[in-house]
Amino acid sequence: MLKVRSLHKTYGDLEVVRGVSFEVAAGECYGLLGPNGAGKTTTLRCCLGLTAPDSGEIVLGALPVPARAREARAHIGVVPQFDNLDPDFTVRENLRMYGRYFGMSRAQVEARVPWLLEYAGLIDKADAPIDALSGGMKRRLTIARALVNDPRVLFLDEPTTGLDPQARHVVWQRLKRLLGEGRTIILTTHFMDEAQRLCDRVAIMDHGVFLAEAPPHDLIEREIEPVVIEVYGDGVGAWFDAHAQRLATRAELSGDTAFCYCQDPQPLLATLAGETELRVLRRAANLEDVFLKLTGRDLRD
Ligand code: ADP
Repeated sequence: MLKVRSLHKTYGDLEVVRGVSFEVAAGECYGLLGPNGAGKTTTLRCCLGLTAPDSGEIVLGALPVPARAREARAHIGVVPQFDNLDPDFTVRENLRMYGRYFGMSRAQVEARVPWLLEYAGLIDKADAPIDALSGGMKRRLTIARALVNDPRVLFLDEPTTGLDPQARHVVWQRLKRLLGEGRTIILTTHFMDEAQRLCDRVAIMDHGVFLAEAPPHDLIEREIEPVVIEVYGDGVGAWFDAHAQRLATRAELSGDTAFCYCQDPQPLLATLAGETELRVLRRAANLEDVFLKLTGRDLRD
């Protein structure tokens, strides 16, 4: 569905995409992860023909981009990071307008609207103004709107940013339904649990290059020890210096929390038995551990 080869893009003196290559197969959910400024949005904009790359090859749904981007986009749905619904119109009218914008006939759009309303879970709100919708409803409508042309591929930029946990779960269900229908999804997200849950494969990007690309569980197995012990509370620094670096395979002190990555956590846990001031969390390694290992803990923005 998407092939990208040696993509480069420079803004002024800054090369923000530095030779990125990847492919996304039909029916796959592919996640692009990375700290702010990593180059994710620029990469996706190049794939959609919205930003011209300096060099590289992009083929979207068998069509070269940017040369035939307009035709390629006819089979693509795009969900922007921020809902840009028209507040002057109702839910139904927003869907209609978008269909017309895609060049669909009035009859084609009308035939599609009931399915889109059902997909968004907004049948009861069809004639409500946009301002009457909750954040989760707006997000679902924006996703439904991107499906007006029945696209085979959907690009989503941070689909659940700003949503409460209930609304995020509903969006995940909706996206899984699209994957179940055989559609392809390419998304960016800052939520590692979202990526781990939805994506068949993820790429972790920083400073314009891919640092790793694999199914989430393969990355976790490859990069991180299986057990993570988090320790926090008064005196964690002294405990860290005395035990963590010696007994964990890898250990980091970040603020007042020690992150200890272990093959066998027992020797480390034994040193915590009498430490009543310290709190201990034992958990399995996850994608966020991989992300932080590869991109570091320093703030970006
Ligand atoms: P991400 O989506 O990973 O946060 P972006 O692709 O948005 O990263 O940005 C990568 C870098 O490119 C950033 O340093 C950003 O400031 C810069 N950048 C993005 N778009 C432009 C633009 N239109 N003009 C100049 N610099 C840009």
